[in-house]
Amino acid sequence: MKKYIFISGGVMSGIGKGITAASIGKILQVRDIGVSIVKIDPYLNADAGTMNPYTHGEVFVTEDGGETDMDLGTYERFLDTNLSKEHNITTGQIYLSVIGKEREGKFLGRCVQIIPHITDEIKNRLRKIATKNTIECLIVEIGGTVGDIESLPFLEAARQMKMEIGQENVLNVHVTLVPVLTAVGEQKTKPTQHSVQELRRIGIQPDIIIPRSKKPLLKGPKKKIALFCNVEDRAVFNSPDLENIYESPLILDNQNLGNYICKKLKIHSNEPNWINWKQIIRTFIEQRRLIKIAICGKYAEFSDSYVSVNEALKHSGAALETKINLDWIETEIFEKNISKLKVLSKFDGILIPGGFGIRGTEGKIAAIKYARNKDIPFLGICLGFQLAVVEFSRQIGLDKANSAENNPRVRHPVIDLMPEQKKINTKGASMRLGTQEVILSPRTLAYKLYNKKKIFERHRHRYEVNPNYINLLEKNGIIFSGKSSDGLRMEILEIPNQLFHLATQFHGEFKSRPGKPAPSYYGFVEACLRKKTTRIKNN
Ligand code: GLN
Repeated sequence: MKKYIFISGGVMSGIGKGITAASIGKILQVRDIGVSIVKIDPYLNADAGTMNPYTHGEVFVTEDGGETDMDLGTYERFLDTNLSKEHNITTGQIYLSVIGKEREGKFLGRCVQIIPHITDEIKNRLRKIATKNTIECLIVEIGGTVGDIESLPFLEAARQMKMEIGQENVLNVHVTLVPVLTAVGEQKTKPTQHSVQELRRIGIQPDIIIPRSKKPLLKGPKKKIALFCNVEDRAVFNSPDLENIYESPLILDNQNLGNYICKKLKIHSNEPNWINWKQIIRTFIEQRRLIKIAICGKYAEFSDSYVSVNEALKHSGAALETKINLDWIETEIFEKNISKLKVLSKFDGILIPGGFGIRGTEGKIAAIKYARNKDIPFLGICLGFQLAVVEFSRQIGLDKANSAENNPRVRHPVIDLMPEQKKINTKGASMRLGTQEVILSPRTLAYKLYNKKKIFERHRHRYEVNPNYINLLEKNGIIFSGKSSDGLRMEILEIPNQLFHLATQFHGEFKSRPGKPAPSYYGFVEACLRKKTTRIKNN
């Protein structure tokens, strides 16, 4: 019998349920228990691909081209595993499929209802994932907050599952928030009590409560939560704010969470082996050097829109014993006042991440030009890659060069819509998505970084380098050091005689893991360190 751990959230959203789910996954994984994670998003979109990362956070891309919730990125990074798009279930998917079946006549004669038809569909999907993967335990994070109308069918499915397959096979974990009122300085448990009441009202008694708090939870509030929420004292596990999120599994397991889960679910477990994970965490602590990197983007003020970029930089920093101070800079400020570019002079590296639409692109191009002229290490990702091509083109005399995304009638569309995209009118899951093969040319920086001829990286784009300009660009000194296997699609560019000027059409950040940094990011951070050293020498 497969085991299921449902994780719900209380009080408010954004309290770190994703990291808690991933941490529980890690806690089981180090005990040699086969585990995987599913994220449920109770919105009506079929996937996260059509949502604005500024309000919803990054769209994470899986190997199989799923455009998913950013929590899947957290799961992959904690568990060091690739998840497929089925691991992100939305209300939209559930309804699409149930209504599809209704139209096919699969429920002929019956009235199709939320209970049992929607809840059955949810349970069937979870069972299918649990059986398809050779795992013992499936963790299911239910997005949103208990009390939301949207998440009710999913919680109801979780309730039914415990009835159907037995108490010892399903565990309910509730993550809440314990705020501190500044005036009294006291950790308040009432929001947690209310949220558990709400959960019990719909028939779910949590087995484990994980209150999140700024500082470690004191004994008093912990006891109070246990008493008022009807759980044992030892079933309350605290997860305080941490500077390094990768420490979270250890903090929870130090409170005996792993053994408690195994006992409750009657899972036979080995002694946890934390050696590797602790070694990785140590690299995040022993950071004796410091560099400053500017990320120039459009959604600059909301760092969740680039979590994977952020994490990938941290992974590389940790591997190089370097702490990275990140500044998010909105590039529109350069468009309004070009002299503002000077703020970039204090950085050891400039990164332009992926993005869509014209807003801020001229400012990004200006930042790339600045990086090139001042020999500041530069890493461009996806849109950042495309704009680096535009910047180079303008330098070699194509002053009217641009991406067709910005202006479809531009004189030199050096970045153009991919031919297969010209026929597509729909917006959902319609880009060039997921893992693609990239062939690296020998004796290039890219080859040096990856140290192999063939790599696989994740993609999410509609535009590409216009094949009509490749010869001209190459003749003028740009090196396309990575190309698709048919040689037609440009994947990596580099400009020689610079400390580091490299950009990728793919998103290296989606495959970066703690202890296994993405080579493109690693090379960039290493170059930033070199930049810093020369800067110190010259001063
Ligand atoms: N907007 C560009 C494209 O569609 C880049 C996409 C991205 O940065 N993810 O090709």
